[in-house]
Amino acid sequence: MNKIEMKTPLVEMDGDEMTRILWQMIKEELILPFVDLKTEYYDLGLEHRNETNDQVTVDSAEATKKYGVAVKCATITPNAARMDEYKLKEMWKSPNGTIRSILDGTVFRAPIVVKGIEPCVRNWEKPITIARHAYGDVYKNVEMKIEGVGKAELVFTDKDGKESRETIHDFKDAGIIQGIHNTKASITSFARACFQYAVSTKQDLWFGSKDTISKKYDHTFKDIFQEVYEAEFKEKFEALGLEYFYSLIDDIVARIMKAKGGFIWACKNYDGDVMSDMISSAFGSLAMMTSVLVSPDGIYEYEAAHGTVQRHYYKYLKGEETSTNPVATIFAWTGALRKRGELDGISALCDFADRLEKATLSTIESGVMTKDLALITSLKEVTALNSRDFIGAIRKQLEA
Ligand code: NAD
Repeated sequence: MNKIEMKTPLVEMDGDEMTRILWQMIKEELILPFVDLKTEYYDLGLEHRNETNDQVTVDSAEATKKYGVAVKCATITPNAARMDEYKLKEMWKSPNGTIRSILDGTVFRAPIVVKGIEPCVRNWEKPITIARHAYGDVYKNVEMKIEGVGKAELVFTDKDGKESRETIHDFKDAGIIQGIHNTKASITSFARACFQYAVSTKQDLWFGSKDTISKKYDHTFKDIFQEVYEAEFKEKFEALGLEYFYSLIDDIVARIMKAKGGFIWACKNYDGDVMSDMISSAFGSLAMMTSVLVSPDGIYEYEAAHGTVQRHYYKYLKGEETSTNPVATIFAWTGALRKRGELDGISALCDFADRLEKATLSTIESGVMTKDLALITSLKEVTALNSRDFIGAIRKQLEA
């Protein structure tokens, strides 16, 4: 059989623990036999990040800027325990954070919907993709505990020294205050990434905030989204028959519960943090969520939304069999290969990505799956396999 040729390499970011093991299996069984795979390889495994003083993470992000599409394996974000475990020189920053700040991107997370793994919300027939604004608000706050009587004020001093003031509260007793901010540039680039991704995936875009209560802060989000929509995307949306829908966040949440899905939900930072976990758990499993980082200038980095599945890795090291779910990592590869195919005009690569996704889903629909899914499926006849055998079963479907 002739393998599918590629033109431009994918940026391949290898990772840690159990997902690193799955990475290799997926490549060997599901990609290399079918695609003449071209990648520029970066080892983001924690040991190599430590050896290179984390330069490899920066290099991989720069390479992504150069080529346009990357696929990333889950990686460890070091904490105190990892410092000892890996004898680290420093507590290196989260690779995802580093890559996101270099690419200035927005993260879109979408559940992989499959018959037999029904979402808790019965009417959700199609995926709901969450876009989280990953800058500012409460994540860049300053806070104070107020111990007694006094006045708290918001003060802005402009570059000429001129002050504007607003009273926050006249405290009669102890209390708390918090200062948060965002920037026009960040909100604009978030809005643009959301509209762009809606056009590229041909889905409606929903956005909600609390502009009735927050007449300046949240209202600015609403206004910027509207301005970007009208100036840059209205015509494209109309041509594709897409809708941009803004409403109050509480109305959006109520409508989400009644909706069929199949759209993108843009969320302010805190809403996105909270709601993405609600969406992934309601759709079934963290192991069935994909994630793509999209920069405003159209650069894509695909990954699974879950971590390195540490618990399984320790079992694996002891020689025990594990049934780690590879689906989100497979879909990271198919997402990246399809995008590469689109950009380079290689339809065979896009078709291959479609077929691999179909083979994965039909394997699960036939009752063959990993343990995490076997525990939650509504199918009656189920065979739970270890990761290697499950990937082998997908390969059989793919070849058929
Ligand atoms: P995790 O996502 O690895 O696991 C959380 C839970 O979900 C576990 O109980 C696990 O059993 C289950 N789970 C997750 N993915 C699964 C899969 N594919 N198959 C079966 N079960 C699955 O998160 P964690 O345990 O909190 O973190 C482990 C490591 O991953 C940490 O070092 C963390 O820094 C890293 N992490 C990386 C990313 C990333 O690279 N995007 C994201 C989150 C966590």
